Amino acid sequence: MRYIEPHAHMVSRTTDDYERMAMAGCEAICEPAFWAGFDRSAVEGFADYFSQLTEHEPKRAAKFGIKHFCWLCINSKEAEDVKLAEEVIALIPKFLDRTNVLGIGEIGLNKNSKNELRVLEMQVELAAKYNQLILVHTPHLEDKLKGTKLILDVLKNDKRIRPERVIIDHVEEHTVEMVLDAGMWTGMTLYPETKCTPARAIDILETYGNERLWLNSACDWGISDPLAVPKTALEMKRRGHLAKVVEKVIFENPKKFLLQSPNFKL
Ligand SMILES: [Zn+2]
Repeated sequence: MRYIEPHAHMVSRTTDDYERMAMAGCEAICEPAFWAGFDRSAVEGFADYFSQLTEHEPKRAAKFGIKHFCWLCINSKEAEDVKLAEEVIALIPKFLDRTNVLGIGEIGLNKNSKNELRVLEMQVELAAKYNQLILVHTPHLEDKLKGTKLILDVLKNDKRIRPERVIIDHVEEHTVEMVLDAGMWTGMTLYPETKCTPARAIDILETYGNERLWLNSACDWGISDPLAVPKTALEMKRRGHLAKVVEKVIFENPKKFLLQSPNFKL
């Protein structure tokens, strides 16, 4: 088995996780910029984080034969402070020419607030200006449907944004169809408790097909499983999916989307 982990927060994981992922067949990991589990107090905290994502983490991954890529942004959980968000957004272009940067992400909404929406629009503008791919985080639980609709409206209203260059992550049963209908890609996040379990994710792909869809673990500093993608691949095999279908979902699909960035190389 070989696979790509298209969404993992490796700065929060141990070298044991890298080793286990490598042994399971992981060839590349993509790390969106996200919340650290606490709010950073100043723009300098983000500058250090972006250096960690573009300089240090690729070296850690390389020790296990895994390619490491990243996405840059200020996440929605820290977007209430619009002034700080403006400072972080002004910093990002300096990092965009680093060799492992794939685009702007994970931007999106958390509580669907006015300030979050404003910062989302600023970062869509940034992506359009610099012709970057976009990775979107959608809100949790009861905020997800409304938040996904708001995000799709922002993206569709900007005619510079090509839908095939956008991935909307953490989709669930009630949001997957509207994203596919908009021509964008969908990411299904495999969590032990919330978001999608492996069984639910496979139900969804059996219902909606396996085009423009990828699986990820979104493993971070909380309860999450860095091996969720290969475990779901095993479950697909157990349900009778052919090996080439499994490979399409866990390797070929993310590769196809990510190759739209000139920086993505296996
Ligand atoms: Zn994430």
